[in-house]
Amino acid sequence: MSTALTMSPGYVFKRPTYTFEELKKKVKETVGSHSPLGASQAERYFVCPGSVRLSKGIEKKSSPYAEEGTLAHALADYFLCHGKWPKGTPKEFIEPLAVYVEAVMADYIGLVKNGRSGQLGVEEEFHLSTIHPDLWGTADAALWISEPVLKLIVYDLKFGRGKYVKVYNNRQLLFYALGALFKWKVPAQEVELVIAQPRLPRPGDEVESVDEMFSVTYNKDRTLSRWSVPALRLYDFAAELAESVRRTDDPNAELVTGPHCKFCPAAPICPARSGTSLVLAQEEFSPALPYDPNALAAVLPYLDEVEDWVKNVRAFAYNEAERGVDIPGYKIVQKHGKEHWIADEETVAAHCELFYGVDRDEVFTKKLKTPKQVREVCGKGADLSAYTSKRSRGRVLVPDSDPRVSVRPDPTQEFEVLEPEWERVEENEQGE
Ligand code: SF4
Repeated sequence: MSTALTMSPGYVFKRPTYTFEELKKKVKETVGSHSPLGASQAERYFVCPGSVRLSKGIEKKSSPYAEEGTLAHALADYFLCHGKWPKGTPKEFIEPLAVYVEAVMADYIGLVKNGRSGQLGVEEEFHLSTIHPDLWGTADAALWISEPVLKLIVYDLKFGRGKYVKVYNNRQLLFYALGALFKWKVPAQEVELVIAQPRLPRPGDEVESVDEMFSVTYNKDRTLSRWSVPALRLYDFAAELAESVRRTDDPNAELVTGPHCKFCPAAPICPARSGTSLVLAQEEFSPALPYDPNALAAVLPYLDEVEDWVKNVRAFAYNEAERGVDIPGYKIVQKHGKEHWIADEETVAAHCELFYGVDRDEVFTKKLKTPKQVREVCGKGADLSAYTSKRSRGRVLVPDSDPRVSVRPDPTQEFEVLEPEWERVEENEQGE
């Protein structure tokens, strides 16, 4: 769904109209292409230059989270072009996407109302082929305005709810901004990067510098962040990008593990990652053995990485076997089945009543929906607080940066040793 479109004030986008179901089908049929050096990969290859070479030829399987993200982007794109949602769009899409489309529309309408000249691009592809032929990516939206200052605004929608993405120094958006300046050939004094992450408000208040503290702003719900920077920053970024790309061409480019490994296509076969996992697997901690809490703390941040690696290797091996690759000692079998009805409900109930004298009420169950589901039925703003309470499902160990208040353990209290519990949220691809 990434047809390039630009408009100037007053222009009306002409695009085919669809219902929600039609658009969903169209999105499923569309096969997107990604560059190995594309904008959305920049955060990874800046840190791990070897990942580009190692990922060559590896096809990444889509996931339901990625498909949901692609559909959300297509819906937002549709709204920006038509000024309305496709008929039948569910509110679980409309409500979060409104944060993004309203931000773009408000900036654009401000431009038109004040009679300024400018240009808006929606789902527009930007190339940086003067640096490298594989450098291209598609920006969710970009807006250039001529007054009161020459300014370029680049917008990015992150529909995922797993990983919060910071706008400050965001390489993906700097890439798009540079691409827009190259393509549109417009002058700019200021560049503004905007990330809408409507389903994951900014957690905590951690900043990496005083500059970030004063230059990044947030909306009330902390679901929209804006970072303004002088356009000259793009010159530095262009040099950093060229140097990073040069490093990816080196046959001995370094492999550097980190959180960016999660979405790396080479993760299942990466020697650096399996090496980390195997080294960690040799660590042993037990209350019965002397151990250093600092060593324990040093291991904890890597556990997500190891879990992801295990998950990736399992999925990769399964897909390879499905492709017909013979993996010694392994075979594909049917999963254990779960018994289910093949006759309709009434036939089953009548059978049980006739032959076993069982009353209908005994074979049917009626259950109240969850508070979230009931709230959705009752409508926005429904007050059910008198009938609900939030019961904690227990305690969990999280990093200090987590915004929740620490619960001090009581060493005098006897407790049962439970299976360790880790809190993880499934993420969509790159948080997009
Ligand atoms: S898995 Fe991590 S270390 Fe390995 S190539 Fe990918 S990004 Fe680099």
